[in-house]
Amino acid sequence: MKTILFHTNGGPDVLEYAEIPTPEPGPGQVLVRLRAAALNRLDLWVRNGWPGIKLTYPHIPGADGAGEIAALGAGVTRLKTGERVVINSNLSCSECGYCLAGQDNRCERWELLGETRNGTYAEYVVIPAVNAYPLPEGFEMGVAAAAGLVFHTAWHSLINRANLRPGESVLVVGASGGVNTASIQIAKHSGATVYVVGLGREKLMLAESLGADYLIDRSQEENWAKTVYQMTNKRGVDVVVDNVGATFPLSFRAARKGGRILTVGNTAGPKVEIDNRFIFAKHLSLIGSTMGTHSDFAAVMELVFSGALKPAIDSVYPLSQARQAQERLEAGEQMGKIVLEIG
Ligand SMILES: [Zn+2]
Repeated sequence: MKTILFHTNGGPDVLEYAEIPTPEPGPGQVLVRLRAAALNRLDLWVRNGWPGIKLTYPHIPGADGAGEIAALGAGVTRLKTGERVVINSNLSCSECGYCLAGQDNRCERWELLGETRNGTYAEYVVIPAVNAYPLPEGFEMGVAAAAGLVFHTAWHSLINRANLRPGESVLVVGASGGVNTASIQIAKHSGATVYVVGLGREKLMLAESLGADYLIDRSQEENWAKTVYQMTNKRGVDVVVDNVGATFPLSFRAARKGGRILTVGNTAGPKVEIDNRFIFAKHLSLIGSTMGTHSDFAAVMELVFSGALKPAIDSVYPLSQARQAQERLEAGEQMGKIVLEIG
């Protein structure tokens, strides 16, 4: 099969377009003939590597994908060859206490497709059968792949962890990234009023098209927390979605008393200074979350399939040009998801 892989960690030029043997599904697994994959920031971290990273080389990146079932491993009866599916990239054991409690994204043996196992930048991928979700007739593979990880992550954080309620106000810090664009839509769909702080008119227009009610351009308003405070009649917002990290001081200011700060990532780096006075004096809850559960995936993809939620797609590249696609993501110029088309 054709695939994108790397033998060593580094910049975009470590990615190679190569031909390797097609893998075979083991018991309980399926082989998926991929038609589309989608890029995530995670792909860049895995490619760049970090101290202590343990990968088996060559490594195939990619968490998101959609395609058709090409072969069934022993014992798989729920799916049929040729069936169209989208992949849930969260791999869990189904046996530990967390899995049995329905909290499978906390699984003791949790793994992520494209990180600890070979991913979706390929013509074929082997996954556990439980991670293949049937696609409705005619639903576009590229859209399904683009929705997967980011809508799953945003849903788990906003709905499962923060218990977002209709009538609440949500501030999303960042207008154009995958999780942020998904968060804007999920918050709006849940009946919240949505504030977005972003950089520049173009990105804010995207946020508005996804349902944002109030737009704040941080190139014009450096102290955007003050702006949010004024816009909410000096109350602050109920929930802040902050996946930047370096912006925590402003997010703490923008939250109301008793507000919740959600974080699923740190695009500006892992370490931030926190003024604890804001946390206790304002009764703030800082809620961390990563990825999502099987039931989250089923719930959010139902809304994607119905058209209620729609991933913003920036661009589509052929699999062979994954390097150019990652360069675009790395430059931060994208407006929504970058998709790989796999012929
Ligand atoms: Zn488990």
